[in-house]
Amino acid sequence: MKYDIVIGLEVHIELSTEKKLFCGCKNEFTHEPNKNVCPVCLGLPGSLPVINEQAIEYFVKLAKALECEISNFSKFDRKHYFYPDMPKNYQISQYDLPLAKGGKLLLPNFNKYVFLKRIHLEEDTGKSIHIGGDNLKEAKYTLLNYNRAGVPLVEIVTEPVIYSVEEAIEFLELLRLTALYLGISDVKMEEGSLRCDANISLKPKNSNQLGTKVEIKNINSFKFLAKALNYEIERQSQLLDKGIEIIQETRGWDEKTQSTYSMRTKEEAHDYRYFPEPDLLPLKISQQYIQAIQIPLTPSQYYQKYISLNLNEEEIMFLLENQQINNLFNNLLEYTKGNTNVNAKSIVKFLKTDFAYLYNNNQIKWEEIKINNIINYISLVENKSIDVLNTKKYLPEILHKEMNLTEFLKSKNLIIEEDHNLIEKLIDEVISRNPQAVEDYLNGKEKALGFLVGQAMKELKGKAKPNTVSELIVNKLQAFIKN
Ligand code: ADP
Ligand code: ZN
Ligand code: MG
Repeated sequence: MKYDIVIGLEVHIELSTEKKLFCGCKNEFTHEPNKNVCPVCLGLPGSLPVINEQAIEYFVKLAKALECEISNFSKFDRKHYFYPDMPKNYQISQYDLPLAKGGKLLLPNFNKYVFLKRIHLEEDTGKSIHIGGDNLKEAKYTLLNYNRAGVPLVEIVTEPVIYSVEEAIEFLELLRLTALYLGISDVKMEEGSLRCDANISLKPKNSNQLGTKVEIKNINSFKFLAKALNYEIERQSQLLDKGIEIIQETRGWDEKTQSTYSMRTKEEAHDYRYFPEPDLLPLKISQQYIQAIQIPLTPSQYYQKYISLNLNEEEIMFLLENQQINNLFNNLLEYTKGNTNVNAKSIVKFLKTDFAYLYNNNQIKWEEIKINNIINYISLVENKSIDVLNTKKYLPEILHKEMNLTEFLKSKNLIIEEDHNLIEKLIDEVISRNPQAVEDYLNGKEKALGFLVGQAMKELKGKAKPNTVSELIVNKLQAFIKN
């Protein structure tokens, strides 16, 4: 590639407040059209908006997690355009005095921050359903659903400091997890509670002047983000190769042709005629209010912690993707202090295998889990002190808080109590019964050892650990060599 890639993202996150941003209507994702509407969110004349404090609280949580500078004074503005899903013919948004500025999100895999320009609060629009055509012009008629009109929406705009498709994906993924962990949104791309527009330009390698950007609108999946960006990189670099200038425009992604297409150029861009919203007072937020709002560790912070625990990317993403499992992991980690058999890796191994199996089959009763039992179980597994294969089927009982693990395992004969005399005797027998394998091993065939251990274990079921047997056999065979 002769060019540097420069990407800036504009992300919209719907807040999962109980009510809408400026009225008392319920904020819910429902299949019944126009169920949650009132004069305010339908834009009827004479109705007046009132700000929802919960939306401010959720916003502040996100702004704090993103280390933004939260404004003590901000205001709302009207952004004008005409489309039937917006009955007032303007959207209440924020323009020159947004609720927060700056901020950053760490991309641990790339060891860099993505810096933010601003984040602000605005209302969502309703939804148009075009019948008999793809858009308003071509449709025979259009249905309107205003359940979403007036739902609180946060817009996050990054600086143009994302330099690859992979960075863009990691940014969006970590932003999604951040909102999820804060409990302020369900951030589902397929339901539209997380949406993204991507700006992308190319410039000659190491040039310090940005190229002309193209904006890709309405990205509704991670796959689509990657495909549309890769397509644009290819399209723009081919044009630049031929010495053709890029035109600044807004493009859409066509899933059928797997390509982007022009929606409008700069000349056709809207003039939104922003002006201050006269029906709402400016918003003053005190420093005490901001300080009183507490937030938990963010996924980026967990990510860094996990890197320092030597977990790899796959293990880390497994933990982060499920907040409940992530919390459990951290509780377990807290309990392992002093237990040398159990560490971060062995806990993840347990969570990814045995635990995930139960979890996926809805067999986990979270309130009834006993942390200590899990640690002890992992410890016994790591130490190879139990008959793992036969223990697994009792896992739901083993995790239960009422369970006395040691007694239970003893009663089911699952703890391996080594009988050293028996082990010696059986190993001697196995060695004398299998002269060929012994010879193979002495001739350097490592596989033969596995065979001998297997023979011994068959007869020592539950009375010896494979490690013990293996070590003893090796010692005996090495004695052969010396003699
Ligand atoms: P506009 O005024 O056209 O909306 P902004 O400066 O507000 O542009 O930026 C909008 C988005 O476009 C931001 O996410 C920003 O990072 C990104 N952006 C701006 N310039 C470029 C560029 N040359 N290449 C890629 N992205 C850019
Ligand atoms: Zn309403
Ligand atoms: Mg802009």
